[in-house]
Amino acid sequence: MKQHILVIGAGFGGVWSALSAARQLDMHDRHDVQISVLAPQAELRIRPRFYEADVHTMFAPLDELFQSVGVRFIKGSANSIDEQGKTVGYSSEFGHQGTLRYDRLVLATGSQLIRPDSGGIHEHAFDVDQIEEAVYLEQHLKTLKNQPYSTARNTVVVVGGGFTGIETATEMPARLRAALGDNTDVRVIVVDRAPQIGAAMGEGIRPAIVEASEHLGIEWVLNTSAAAVDAYGVTLADGKRIEARTVIWTIGFRASPLTELLTGARNAQGRLHVDHNLKVLGQADIFAAGDVAYAATDDLGNFSAMSCQHAIALGRHAGNNAAADLLGVAPTTYRQPKYVTCLDLGTWGAVFTEGWDRQLKLVKEEAKSLKTQINTQWIYPPAADRVTALAAADPLIPVA
Ligand SMILES: Cc1cc2nc3c(=O)[nH]c(=O)nc-3n(C[C@H](O)[C@H](O)[C@H](O)COP(=O)(O)OP(=O)(O)OC[C@H]3O[C@@H](n4cnc5c(N)ncnc54)[C@H](O)[C@@H]3O)c2cc1C
Repeated sequence: MKQHILVIGAGFGGVWSALSAARQLDMHDRHDVQISVLAPQAELRIRPRFYEADVHTMFAPLDELFQSVGVRFIKGSANSIDEQGKTVGYSSEFGHQGTLRYDRLVLATGSQLIRPDSGGIHEHAFDVDQIEEAVYLEQHLKTLKNQPYSTARNTVVVVGGGFTGIETATEMPARLRAALGDNTDVRVIVVDRAPQIGAAMGEGIRPAIVEASEHLGIEWVLNTSAAAVDAYGVTLADGKRIEARTVIWTIGFRASPLTELLTGARNAQGRLHVDHNLKVLGQADIFAAGDVAYAATDDLGNFSAMSCQHAIALGRHAGNNAAADLLGVAPTTYRQPKYVTCLDLGTWGAVFTEGWDRQLKLVKEEAKSLKTQINTQWIYPPAADRVTALAAADPLIPVA
């Protein structure tokens, strides 16, 4: 029987894990190891674009890519992991229970937004975390024009003024006008508990966020949070009310619940601590990549963020190292000292920063052009061609 590397998840971490494991096997001319990817769908869903319009198009099919490098795809959802028995239990698309044996496992099941289960937030708020929810929001925005004119109809409240909240809010004036007509008096309001606009993003880019907000007419309600949401608006913690038919929740990301099935230390967001080869601490055969992994990026105390730039690099190392571990060859130490951010600010433009302290490098059109390149090219998977795909999975290729 062939030895088996099992990757759970077909996001950025999972896809690049599978490709880099295939590259490692190819380099050693090994044909006695099977690589499988287990996920609910054979597509890379482009989560960083879920705040944009036409979100139903934001995925890349993976069948041909996996076939080109000899990776088997298994459609299903993992629901148990037996560390001692080295098996993963899963339910197939038809609801049947199955079991997969593994010799090395890469967990790459990502993260999810956890909305509070109180105050009507679960029932009435929208979000842009998964493609289904983002499509649901898009459909809702398109149906607003069928409702009678009112301030509530023309108002979107975005709860949370972090990265996702800002990108979502700054896109909204254009999306609302596309839905309701160019001359409609639209309102977009960000509710954030911080005392300043864009406080979580750092002083380097705060002025740009303020300028973009003014240019786009986005209002910020600061020093408060949303306590309750209903179909007609949001009630704030201080009791104030904002009438809005659309409330978008953007706070509270947590690592996939599968991380809780493993013995190992986790950080406050449930992300698994891993060693410098991305093996889960305390585990002999299990690696982690993407948002589930909390990995040191350098020796200065910085750790991977829940981001594509880290998920891609983590995947390229985790799959490579899982295969290297199985073959008994040297792993490639994960190091990613360069950290950049590119924050979309709607029709105003974007900002691009370098370093963990977010030093401003590009603004407006220049940054926007880079953001467009990142979102439409860089984060998409390689062509379904064996040589191209394996070359692209080299862990030493810098992501940013
Ligand atoms: C609106 C938004 C904007 C963002 N903007 C940016 C940005 O500008 N820059 C940036 O770097 N990052 C951004 N991110 C973050 C980025 O999308 C994530 O960090 C990235 O997707 C993480 O990759 P991943 O592979 O860990 O997880 P994911 O991409 O979430 O993939 C997880 C995979 O695991 C699968 N899976 C989940 N559970 C199971 C299970 N039980 N069994 C089998 N498979 C399972 C899923 O189906 C999916 O295939 C943004 C995210 C959002 C939501």
